[in-house]
Amino acid sequence: MDKSFVTMAVCPICHKETGDLLMDTKVRDVFERYTMTPSPCQECREKYLSNGVLIIAPETSRIAVITDDAFLRRFNMDLPPKKIAFCDERVMDWILTPPPTETEGQP
Ligand SMILES: [Zn+2]
Repeated sequence: MDKSFVTMAVCPICHKETGDLLMDTKVRDVFERYTMTPSPCQECREKYLSNGVLIIAPETSRIAVITDDAFLRRFNMDLPPKKIAFCDERVMDWILTPPPTETEGQP
């Protein structure tokens, strides 16, 4: 059995190894030894997700963490049960753009 398809899962927030091993013949060429997974490590889960939501754009592996309040305001929907949401690049850009203030741009 070839072991080269075994990769170490890393936390998407701090990029530390989570201790999980991934065994997938498909990820090998793309990610080499480390693979970002949507599962943050315990530390980041407590630090960021106790009051926030992790947003991931899988295409480019960009991530953002926004607060529960910001999520509710911007998406106008319930918080995801696991505090993790996936989006595409355009949504990510929109999330990372600060919302315009109420008075700005008024003539
Ligand atoms: Zn982490």
